[in-house]
Amino acid sequence: MKVELIIVGNELISGEVLDINAGYMASALTEKGFEVTFITMIGDHEYHIEDALLRAQEHADAIIVSGGLGPTADDITASSAAKALGRRMIINKDILQSLRERFAHRGMEMPLANEKQAFFPHQAEILSNPLGTASGFTLRHKSKIYIFLPGVPKELQYLFNENVLPLLEKESQEKAIYRSRTLKVFGLTESAIADRLKGVNPQDHSASLAYLPRFPENHIKITVRGISSEDVERNLRALEKTIGERLEGRVFAVDTEILEAIVGQLLRSHQSTLAVAESCTGGLITHRLTQIPGSSDYFERGIVVYSNRAKIDILKVPEELLAQEGAVSGSVAEKMAEGVRQISQATLGLSVTGIAGPGGGSEEKPVGTVFIALASSKGTVAKKYQFWGDREQIKTISAHTAIDWVRRYFLNQLSGMNSQLAEIKLNADR
Ligand code: ATP
Ligand code: MG
Repeated sequence: MKVELIIVGNELISGEVLDINAGYMASALTEKGFEVTFITMIGDHEYHIEDALLRAQEHADAIIVSGGLGPTADDITASSAAKALGRRMIINKDILQSLRERFAHRGMEMPLANEKQAFFPHQAEILSNPLGTASGFTLRHKSKIYIFLPGVPKELQYLFNENVLPLLEKESQEKAIYRSRTLKVFGLTESAIADRLKGVNPQDHSASLAYLPRFPENHIKITVRGISSEDVERNLRALEKTIGERLEGRVFAVDTEILEAIVGQLLRSHQSTLAVAESCTGGLITHRLTQIPGSSDYFERGIVVYSNRAKIDILKVPEELLAQEGAVSGSVAEKMAEGVRQISQATLGLSVTGIAGPGGGSEEKPVGTVFIALASSKGTVAKKYQFWGDREQIKTISAHTAIDWVRRYFLNQLSGMNSQLAEIKLNADR
């Protein structure tokens, strides 16, 4: 909850009296977890009080005003507040009575000037002050709470501790709305994400960010806290948009959405079909895509071409190419993608060939070397990746990357790709 403090008093802005109320309240509020966003100090001047009260709505959820509740003509905080917030001043008979009793108790008649202290803006809730004649009060206005306290430090501190802190604590618990959204990122390590998000200040959106590695994805959980659902939603959207832009299309889904479902939606909406030729992933891509109900609308076939023989027989990969380049190569991946597209007549042909390990690696092609290719009417793109991890992790990230290629194809992100080595280190941050 954001709090603004408005300190009122000619004697304060003239330097005659040193303010102690702002510091007192600010440190107690900060310690309790409130955010003090503004401290304003003004003289006992109607126009300035009105102006400060209205401006404070932009800075804070709760506005605490100190001073100017006394009986003398220069104490005009209550009437200025009534004016600013469009209220009439109304007499409170109970307070008038207790003021009279207070003086009577001392054997005095109440001076006329003190009657003023029984007038409050319409709908004010009184904070009774046993230490002095100036009662505090609260006013609710446009989802903000205004709290008015007498300026005498002892009185202010008493009311602040007895009434204000408990009220704000209750208010912030009741009012605070939390909303979270998890952005699912693939293809960037945690530190790469952090680099790209440098300068993005979640606090600007009353938000916090949590980085959650969920191999092979990285999730960013945004949590926004606020008092109105519109505010919270607006902040959430703004921060989500900023992060999305900084990560340039690497955010593939939010919350419960999963990659294969997103890819399925894209294929369906583009009236496209997909055929897959898998080597090192052994059917994992096919399995994952077909986990989505209704995937038969767009998933044409998946073939596991594990041996060279299968690649030659089924996909017509040239035998010489396999002999020259090896099964784990960009040109074989290309031929696999083109072959499966050709025989299936699917819109897209996707292929994966690589070394999942733990054996089978060489200096030139270490374990984790994986080629992915995608064939479409626009031509064929192939790329070499160097993944790290155990057999299962390499299969998982290979399948994930290949499925993500389909998504990126529809986002036109594949065209700029060349076959340069892309290193994706597993758990590189830890
Ligand atoms: P009261 O009826 O008790 O006077 P009030 O709200 O009118 O309450 P003020 O008239 O503004 O209070 O201030 C009374 C005295 O309290 C001031 O003369 C000053 O000495 C002291 N005081 C007020 N505000 C502050 C402050 N922010 N810091 C330190 N002293 C203050
Ligand atoms: Mg004063």
